[in-house]
Amino acid sequence: MSVLRILAKNILLFGIASSYISLAFAQKELNLYSARHYQTDEALYSDFTKKTGIKINRIEADDNGILERLKSEGDKSQADIILLVDAARLWRAQINGLFTPVKSKYLDERIPANLRANSEPEGTPWFGFSTRARMIVYNKASVKKSDVDTYEKLADPINKGKVCTRSGAHPYMLSLVGALIERDGLQATKAWAKGMVANMARSPRGGDTDQIKAVASGECGVALTNSYYFARMMQSDKPEDVNLMSKLAYVWPNQGAGGVHVNIAGGGMAKNAPHPKEAILFLEYLASNSAQEYFANGNNEWPAVPLVKVDNPALKLLGKFQAEKVSVSAIGKNQIAAQRLLDQAGYK
Ligand code: FE
Repeated sequence: MSVLRILAKNILLFGIASSYISLAFAQKELNLYSARHYQTDEALYSDFTKKTGIKINRIEADDNGILERLKSEGDKSQADIILLVDAARLWRAQINGLFTPVKSKYLDERIPANLRANSEPEGTPWFGFSTRARMIVYNKASVKKSDVDTYEKLADPINKGKVCTRSGAHPYMLSLVGALIERDGLQATKAWAKGMVANMARSPRGGDTDQIKAVASGECGVALTNSYYFARMMQSDKPEDVNLMSKLAYVWPNQGAGGVHVNIAGGGMAKNAPHPKEAILFLEYLASNSAQEYFANGNNEWPAVPLVKVDNPALKLLGKFQAEKVSVSAIGKNQIAAQRLLDQAGYK
């Protein structure tokens, strides 16, 4: 055989082999239903594809949109991975049967037990991949820090007419109340909810950023917000935001008294995941050092995996705090009791 013919044969064989490889690659894919969408996501997902050859098909909507879509698709859903924010929503998805429990030694080792669902014999339904903290912001001119440095004090008569929060039906409120039930007990939390309603500066409305703005304007004296909204405002160089932030101070509540309420963004494998192996690989990838950084930084959150460092100036400015010990699983389970208690208190 001439050298040329051998060469031609090899090229032909190689060509066939490589087209098989690319076919195999093309078949490896993962359907991701995500309620998170940030600038760092591109790097987060393309990194995974680079490492594994698995292509990610993304369906993005807000949390309610994702849950509605999954419910309407039912058993025909092609979802492999579901990413949601807040333990309240993850728990709701779990009791609606939307997850398949996952068994992964790596995930169990990487994600602290208080930041994932309780394990069942079949595995763990969902995992937290980043944490956010529920902080207290107050108006420097009208409120003293020592009057608002615990969640409990917000319900004290000393803060009458000063308190603003979002709706009592929102997951962020339900999760905080779920945590307080765990920390202070049901009766004390019932009394707390009544005290909060009595202290409102206005009927609960708007999102966390709206609360921050209302505190700056003086309409409210004190409010609750998730840390990443505050971090976003801190990083803003728009003159109106800079002016707004100059009116505010924040406090990490309950230091030495139960800690700051901490919640998560997280996810798990979908019930009828057509690509279960790829789904587990992806969940494990999310707990890796590099993915943890992307995942947390994208929304100014903290990595769920201990010892993973993020280089985020806003988080550095916010400083360290003592977090609560309550597990997100317990917070999930307290959702119904929390809603009932808030309704009974007349919390709008
Ligand atoms: Fe949020």
